[in-house]
Amino acid sequence: MLVNLCNFAGKTLQHSMKQVTYNGLTFVPYIDRERIANRVNQIAADIKRDCPEGSIPLFICVLNGAFPFASDLFRAVDMDAEITFIRLKSYEGTGSTGVVKEVLGLGEDIKGRRIIIVEDIIDTGNTIKRLVDDLGKQQPADIKVATLLFKPQAVQCDVTPDYVGFEIPTKFIIGYGLDLDGMARNLPDIYVLKESADNQ
Ligand code: IMP
Ligand code: MG
Repeated sequence: MLVNLCNFAGKTLQHSMKQVTYNGLTFVPYIDRERIANRVNQIAADIKRDCPEGSIPLFICVLNGAFPFASDLFRAVDMDAEITFIRLKSYEGTGSTGVVKEVLGLGEDIKGRRIIIVEDIIDTGNTIKRLVDDLGKQQPADIKVATLLFKPQAVQCDVTPDYVGFEIPTKFIIGYGLDLDGMARNLPDIYVLKESADNQ
């Protein structure tokens, strides 16, 4: 589902989303909370459909950015499930450092478990690739990747997410967990860097 910036001319938005500014950078409305909620519910239904009857999947939320998505998704999945958290970091400012640093490791034994990794966004793919490779060594029964956002043109490695909320162009975005140097995660809607939007 490719997001078209032209759909966000203001009148299609249910909320009075205004442009916001962080660190001197201006961001404009991009995906509003209703669209996010609709996609989260659809992904939750898809996950339930794909899980074998009776299995109890373990959701692994990739902190910090995925926490709102994981929270909404986990509550929308109408089945028995568990959740845990891992913290990785690869971004500084508006660009990837290319180096994925694990900050908080996984405590659980995942051998034989069905894993759903929950990410906010896949950009270069380095973070998710490293995580899938690392978790795969621990012999889980299955690993699936759910990402709210996916930048297919930015991907630099062999990564195909199983569940994608929105495919977007290679633009820098904030809100609903996504940050600019720690700020803007608490915006309920998603915004795109204005310069990027103007270049569409
Ligand atoms: P990747 O390793 O390049 O795929 O980047 C993954 C991580 O970088 C994500 O989990 C985010 O935390 C961060 N990231 C990537 N793109 C953006 C963006 O547009 N805005 C904010 N954070 C981003
Ligand atoms: Mg992240």
